[in-house]
Amino acid sequence: MHHNIEQYKNNVLNFFLKFLEIDAVNPSFGGRGEYERANFLENYLEELGLKVTRIDYKDDKGYIRPNIITGIDNRRDKSIWFLLHLDTVDPGNLDLWKYDPFKPVIVDDKIFGRGSEDNGQAIASVLLLLKYILDKNIDIKYNLKVAFVSDEEAGSKYGIKKLLKENIFKENEYFIVPDASIENGRFIEIAEKSIVWLKIRVIGKQGHAAMPDHAINASRISMKLCLEIDEFLHRKYSKRNDFFNPPISTFEITKRERNVNSINIIPGEDVTYFDFRVLPEYNIDDILNDIYKIKNKYEKNYNVRVEIECIARDECYKITSPNSFIYKILEKSIEINRGFKPKPIGIGGGTYARYLRNKGYDAVVWQTTENKAHQVNEYCRISNILEDAKVFLTCFLI
Ligand SMILES: [Zn+2]
Repeated sequence: MHHNIEQYKNNVLNFFLKFLEIDAVNPSFGGRGEYERANFLENYLEELGLKVTRIDYKDDKGYIRPNIITGIDNRRDKSIWFLLHLDTVDPGNLDLWKYDPFKPVIVDDKIFGRGSEDNGQAIASVLLLLKYILDKNIDIKYNLKVAFVSDEEAGSKYGIKKLLKENIFKENEYFIVPDASIENGRFIEIAEKSIVWLKIRVIGKQGHAAMPDHAINASRISMKLCLEIDEFLHRKYSKRNDFFNPPISTFEITKRERNVNSINIIPGEDVTYFDFRVLPEYNIDDILNDIYKIKNKYEKNYNVRVEIECIARDECYKITSPNSFIYKILEKSIEINRGFKPKPIGIGGGTYARYLRNKGYDAVVWQTTENKAHQVNEYCRISNILEDAKVFLTCFLI
């Protein structure tokens, strides 16, 4: 049977343009949040004939953070979820936009607007999929479930992280997360590194550069300390995992805060930051314990105080196997629709698929975009909306 999903293109695009017009910038970036956009989407889903469940949370600023669950239950024993997010980052410098970021416009195959790609494109694809399956009464082989969530752009505290505690996701449920595209869909993301940002403050004693005996040079000691941490971690945590590029954990000294204003002053304080991207094989607590041991040694030997603060800690300990059900289904569907076999890959960045994986669910991250997320003049291609919808549809037929 030929599946003419294009016939619903105009219906979905009409909705999609109005959807993008509703500003849903994450409140963490000063926006007004996802509430109004969610209400508009909920109406559309109900018009399609879907049953909708809302799970809304109030955040610490008082904003309602909506989450919408819907889907098509065909009484199958396996379910495939799509995880999509409603929020966006802010538009950035408006002078750099060719068009108003909240008045989306179509130019040939492209739709310009904030959130058009991230995560709008995949939302449009999944709506197309839902409408097609409902209108044509397609007998799907797996239940189709969808979660439209809040707060992906700022840590998922009021979105997937909270939903995972609500017992919504069950056994025999598998996840497609269309929120990152690697080389036009040639790769399926199955693994992510843990991310840790560390701030290390060394406190010594300020003094005159000509009288170092009366001072404790925090910068000198900090440099020794940070290099020792750096070398120690590279030596001890040196495993390879060839799904990733680079295939090792990375430990980088990054930002350093400015210290004294004069060349003739010995700095009494030094602040250095690390960015770690750690393979899922390693436990972050082990790494931090090692760092604390080095810190204690320095405090004892150099008469300084060292404060260590975790600015960010986002762990990922599990990989979704390329032999898993969901990987195999998606791989086969891409082969059928695109004529190539995608490859599994791990990335150093992060998507919220990691929270599902940490809870033991299999989740694959895949879509086809031109990687315009978070940029000015963000756009998505209508052809990608259609072609990804076809890949998703085939997943339910094979
Ligand atoms: Zn996104």
